[in-house]
Amino acid sequence: MAFFVDVILPIPVKRYFTYSINEEESNFLVPGMRIAVPFGKSKIYAGIVHAIHQTPPIHYEAKEIHQILDEMPIVNSIQLKLWEWIAQYYMCAVGEVYRAAVPSAFLLESETIIQLNKETVVDDLELKDDDFLVYEALLHQPILRIQEINAIVDKKTILPIIKRLLAKNIVTVQEQIYEQYKPKLIRFVRLHEQYASEEALQNLLDQLSRAKKQKEVILTLFSLSATTRKPVSVVELAKKSNVSTSVVKSLIDKEILDEFYLQQDRIQFEGNEEMISKELNEFQEKALEEVKSSFEQHQVTLLHGVTSSGKTEIYVKLIEEALQAGKQILYLLPEIALTAQLITRLQQYFGEQVSVYHSKYSVHERVEVWNNVLENKSKAQIVIGARSAIFLPFSNLGLIVVDEEHEGTFKQYDPAPRYQARDTAVVLAAMHNAKVLLGSATPSLESYYNAQQQKYGLVSLTRRHGNVLMPAMELVDIKEAHRKKRMKGHFSERLLKEMEAALEEGEQIILFQNRRGFAPILECNTCGHSPQCPNCDVSLTYHQYKNQLRCHYCSYHIAMQKQCLACGSTELDTKGFGTEQIEKELQELFPDLKVGRMDLDSTRGKHAYEKIITAFEQQEIDILVGTQMLSKGLDFRNVTLVGVMNADNLINFPDFRAHERSFQLLLQVAGRAGRTQKRGKVLIQTYNPYHQILQQVTVNDYDGMAKEQLNERYQYKYPPFYKLIKFTLKHRDYTRVNEGADWFAKSLRNSFGAQVLGPEFPPVSRIRNQYLKNVLLKIPPKQSLQKTKEQIEKICSSFDAIPNYKGVRVVINVDNY
Ligand code: ADP
Ligand code: ZN
Ligand code: ZN
Repeated sequence: MAFFVDVILPIPVKRYFTYSINEEESNFLVPGMRIAVPFGKSKIYAGIVHAIHQTPPIHYEAKEIHQILDEMPIVNSIQLKLWEWIAQYYMCAVGEVYRAAVPSAFLLESETIIQLNKETVVDDLELKDDDFLVYEALLHQPILRIQEINAIVDKKTILPIIKRLLAKNIVTVQEQIYEQYKPKLIRFVRLHEQYASEEALQNLLDQLSRAKKQKEVILTLFSLSATTRKPVSVVELAKKSNVSTSVVKSLIDKEILDEFYLQQDRIQFEGNEEMISKELNEFQEKALEEVKSSFEQHQVTLLHGVTSSGKTEIYVKLIEEALQAGKQILYLLPEIALTAQLITRLQQYFGEQVSVYHSKYSVHERVEVWNNVLENKSKAQIVIGARSAIFLPFSNLGLIVVDEEHEGTFKQYDPAPRYQARDTAVVLAAMHNAKVLLGSATPSLESYYNAQQQKYGLVSLTRRHGNVLMPAMELVDIKEAHRKKRMKGHFSERLLKEMEAALEEGEQIILFQNRRGFAPILECNTCGHSPQCPNCDVSLTYHQYKNQLRCHYCSYHIAMQKQCLACGSTELDTKGFGTEQIEKELQELFPDLKVGRMDLDSTRGKHAYEKIITAFEQQEIDILVGTQMLSKGLDFRNVTLVGVMNADNLINFPDFRAHERSFQLLLQVAGRAGRTQKRGKVLIQTYNPYHQILQQVTVNDYDGMAKEQLNERYQYKYPPFYKLIKFTLKHRDYTRVNEGADWFAKSLRNSFGAQVLGPEFPPVSRIRNQYLKNVLLKIPPKQSLQKTKEQIEKICSSFDAIPNYKGVRVVINVDNY
């Protein structure tokens, strides 16, 4: 009797592949195990077993498998079901989901590069002959590809060899090296050891008798060390001695004090005290009860709580309960990099039970977390992760928290699967019969609408913790100010006045400008030419720091031009402004202050985020200028003033979500101000102070905004009422894309009529030498999604068969624009 296995291969082909196996193998294999299989002429893939059966494939003869790679499944049946749902809903191949879902070390492809792990001491005698051959070859050359290893051992099936070498830590599978999550570093000081003796110390104090402030610092350090016996941080020392941190710094420079860094987790001497979660205030208590009773009727509940209302503490209580019930918990965040603060907080409560999972982590760490979850180890009961954490092998999920659920980054844009992690989490939870809590101060209209429709439960929390007031919001009309010439650079007099007042009080300031770089583009005053990227259809952006013109899409760059490339004129002007320019203006306006900048360019380096955030927390930076990175979940205690440099470029962005997004972003940024007793202030500079969205922002009128926006979405047939599928056609040849898009749109129109928009070139219509053209399909609420997608698949197949459009890629993006 013949036996067969259907396998998922990590390639973008929408079907399973059938291989032949023997009876023994058919008894051993179960879905979710990996097997090495041949593919095409010479490729080998690690495929995932989908099903075992006895029906031979019709159109081809099944090849034999090479090797079974696992003794136990690495993927469970719920995951396989989820993969299929994603592939079906987001219109991609299950293989693409597989590729995105598992740590890449599991994929072991023929393109994989193998390297020696220099840290492992190898005992030659312990190695099998084949393993030794590979090991020896690696001693002579730094990397080997699978094909090379094939040649060395003269065998086709070498995956078992690699597997054995991996298990012994002798080799590593090469990948991009990502940086690991590092706990926050805090700067401490102690007296330099040269003053250890009493005599030396006395001399020092005499020496400092005229430098009163410095002497005070030394004495304070002394008394602090004596009473607390803990290391003393720079911030604490400065505060207790009533001096600025610069005085402490000068003592470090003179080598009177010695600085050292400790990781924050090593300095929590308080021990168990921190392990008990906080007692909820009455409003949180009520919200928690409401969430729980909502869970009795709804699988999903939306917690709409203003910034700083203490949503996290409510999550913590729910997590505690789920833990006690013996369930696994998934805590999804939009971006891990910015949330070191939260990780520390949860680890304080739950210690070892918290794991972090993120695509920026090293493969080693990801495999470790994966295996811990797979084995349901106590170490991985709570997983904090960005969107890819929904792919972990949970077997017993009880609760999913989606924090900042409105964030656009939950949607993956490229490559496939183009999934929305929040929405997928809801589907995943249903498969586990688990609950989902969506939390936000500014919910997405999709979730809010679902709550209105009673599909989700809704719980509101309108008080900030500790009765801290919402910040006072003020719109500053810069059109007026420009006209009256009352601007200093990009700063209105009003903003400057508030900044001075805050600085006077020793408070910190955040300035928000939604654009990186210095000034977006360079323009010739004589002929109007502005330098363009040769690969993409965009103007190059001026970056003062490197004195370059750069493309934000492909990283192309040239030196800043002194003369116009077109006409040779030297009258060039920079239009618009970005974070770098604000930083520079600040340095001129406040030469004595320390200004920091946080944007994509300033946070590229190793641990750059943490460094900036820590420096700001420790008040080594007075004013922090940044892009929207600043808006996310950060909790700075000493910030009382937030300034938005220009709200208009947010609102005027050409996208149907622009107004919703502006509202969310502005309120989130505002939420960074005044998180303690002193009421914070937010100043928003705009040319258009009467704009409805800005009016709604100033009075925190979420409901008003939602009502109005939902109305518009309804009228113009946009989500959450209609579903959207966007098709992007791509090719290097302009005509092919253009004609292909016409054909494609026409075919869609034949089936769906007026619900088809386009084809249209996007604002940036060429990226990395590929032309792009979009077609949009709107799907009315009553139209069957299933049938619509089937029809789309048919159109795509016909398109692929037309010789004229050969090579034109059609990228399908479901549910986002
Ligand atoms: P949100 O996530 O809603 O913006 P957080 O959970 O970050 O708010 O809470 C804001 C601040 O208030 C945090 O510093 C938090 O430690 C504090 N806080 C919230 N709830 C409590 C509580 N019940 N007891 C003590 N502190 C609390
Ligand atoms: Zn470019
Ligand atoms: Zn010119």
